[in-house]
Formats: sequence, C-alpha cells, structure tokens
Amino acid sequence: MGLESGTAYILGADGLSALFRAIVDSGHTVVAPTARDGAMALREVESPDDLPAGRTDEQAPGSYRLKERSDQAVFGHTVGPDSPKRWLHPPAFLRFRAHRGEKTGFTLEKGDTSAPKIAFLGIKPCDLAAIGRQDRVFLGGPFAEPAYAARRQEALLVVAQCTEAHGTCFCASMGTGPRAEAGFDLALTELFREGRHELVVEVGSERGAALLADVPKKAAGAGDLDAAKAASAKAAKEMGRTLETAGLREALQAKVESPRWEEVEKRCLSCANCTLVCPTCFCSTIEDTTDLTGHVSERWRRWDSCFTLDFSYIHGGSVRRTGASRYRQWLTHKLASWIDQFGESGCVGCGRCITWCPVGIDLTAEARAFQPAPARGKE
Ligand code: SF4
Ligand code: SF4
Repeated sequence: MGLESGTAYILGADGLSALFRAIVDSGHTVVAPTARDGAMALREVESPDDLPAGRTDEQAPGSYRLKERSDQAVFGHTVGPDSPKRWLHPPAFLRFRAHRGEKTGFTLEKGDTSAPKIAFLGIKPCDLAAIGRQDRVFLGGPFAEPAYAARRQEALLVVAQCTEAHGTCFCASMGTGPRAEAGFDLALTELFREGRHELVVEVGSERGAALLADVPKKAAGAGDLDAAKAASAKAAKEMGRTLETAGLREALQAKVESPRWEEVEKRCLSCANCTLVCPTCFCSTIEDTTDLTGHVSERWRRWDSCFTLDFSYIHGGSVRRTGASRYRQWLTHKLASWIDQFGESGCVGCGRCITWCPVGIDLTAEARAFQPAPARGKE
C-alpha cells in the first residue's frame, strides 16, 4: 500500500507494538517518556511496555507529581523535565582531546562525531515546536552547528498530540499546541471510544509513511480526525495558564528599569533550573580540563545558564551581577529579543520553567506584570 504525507489511519490495540517494531527495524533507538524517578523521563526504551501506561502527571508552580489514571492511556500525560534538547544538544559534549607526546608535540583527536539515529516517540507538540526553535539557532544562518545538524538529520519525530493539559501548560497561547499540524514524521492521537483504545495516526513525511507501510491499520475517516481534533481542543480549554503575546515584546523592552525586577530577585535563587529544563534554551560554555599527568587535555562544551554569575563574565568581572539583571535577561530574551533575533518567541509554553522552579516563579505572571491590565491572561 503506498502511503502519502497528509493521510491518516487508525491503529488498533496492537498497532503501537507494530509501529515500535517498525521504528526499531529502521535502525533507530527509541527515546520516549517513561515513568522513572518520580517523573516522566525521556529515556531510551526497548519496548512499548516501557511506556507509562496508566500514569499521568500533575503540575503546578514548583510542584510535580505522578499519579495513576483511570484508563491505560500511554500518552495521557504532559511533559516531564527532559526534552529532545538533551539528545540533539547534549548537556556535555566533547569537542576535542589533545595528547602531548614527549617528542612529537601535541596531537589532536576529534571529539564526539557520533550521529545517533534517534526516534523520539510520544514527544508533545510544544517539544516539536521547541525543536523548530533550536533548528533556527543551530542550523539557521551561514554557520550550522555540525553535531546538532548530524543528529537532527537522523531524528525521527513521532508526536503524541495532547488530549489533556495540566496546571502550568500554556502552549495554546503560544500557538505551539496542543495539536501539531506539521513538522512531524507521524502524529498520534490516543482515543478511547465505544470501549476501544485506538490511535489516530497522521502521516507528516515520507519517512513517516515508510514506517507505517507494514503496520496493520485502516484508513481514518473524517469522523476520526474530527474526534482527534476535538480531544486536543478539550486540552486547549484545560490549560492552567495563558499568556497574551500581543504587544508583550514592546511592553517588556519598555520596562528595563522597572522595580519589578528587584521584586522577583527577592524570590529567585539563581539556581538555573528554569534554563536547564527549558527546551529552547541553548546557551553553553567551554571548559578545558587537563589530566594529572599533564599529557591529555580535553575541551568540553557544557550547557550554561544566564542565571550564573560566570555566564556574563568578561575581563574585569561579570556584567550581570544582580539576580534582578539575570532574571531580566532571561525573561526579556525569551519573550522579546528572541523575536528580534529569530522572528518568533523563544517560549513554546511548555510550562517546565514554572513547574521546576523551586520557589514557583511563574513566567506568565511575571510577564503579565509588565502588560497593561486589559491584555492580561488567566492568572
Ligand atoms: S520559557 Fe518556560 S514555558 Fe517557555 S519554553 Fe522555556 S521552559 Fe517552556
Ligand atoms: S526563576 Fe526559579 S528556576 Fe529560575 S533561577 Fe530563579 S529560582 Fe531558579
């Protein structure tokens, strides 16, 4: 059967296993949500049994809990602390290793040149949008980041459309969810209808179509797609937060001297959690290490954060010495100057920075404080 991008199918109860096998047979390692260490962790998984059937998450500012569901939904949760960033732009990355010989001087060994074939199974639409943001950072413009490019080229993107939302979600405000319309290889919507547990599968690329070729399925009708869209529309209504984006860039850029920055400094611990969990944050630092013999040196690229004092260190000291200036950098870059740089917001509304902030600082509330009252969204 020849499959085309843009078509949709229904997979029955055993369809996910068949799809999983097809992904593995294509030579990809499957990275998917799995309930581990009290959270939905994105990890390498070996079978559909590793997926978090019957589990969901509950999120609020500074709070995250897993809990049981009343059904056996596999994708009935939102995002955990990890995002595909961890694989496409790893937290620690070896750039090169230098060896000092007694007579030969230095020889250089290339760093990490691997290009793992990863299939992201069950990532959410906000994370698909975040990959798009990172694509612009690492692949846009005249210089592409080669390690990211190699990983990205191999990556298969199988999205699980959101059918429910939790307390810190606001992707509907950012136009990045809860339903992805394009940019995926396959998109799954998990439905429970008339006693049946089914997946509506939308094909988004030729690679996605090839994966599905030998998976047992039937063509989806207009009613199936309508049901899938209705499930995501319900999720859009459930979102715990909103952010009014019209005029937000201008509102933030007009308030660089606001006392609000000092107010948030009193609460912010400068712990950097928000930047580390953010699926779009891309800043890194370079670290050189030498072994005890002095014969081997390595250069590593590591994730960094605008919340650290060292991040803005230039000759003579750090430019952003106060928590207020660091929080201002984070919020205004994410929601304002990112638009100047890349033509769109740096925030996809995943809510992670709110959930994983140990003191529950809420990006939507902080942004709202700079907006005129009529433009404010849901508290
Ligand atoms: S700023 Fe916060 S809500 Fe926006 S993408 Fe980053 S972690 Fe998600
Ligand atoms: S806003 Fe929250 S998560 Fe971010 S640095 Fe401050 S305390 Fe940490």
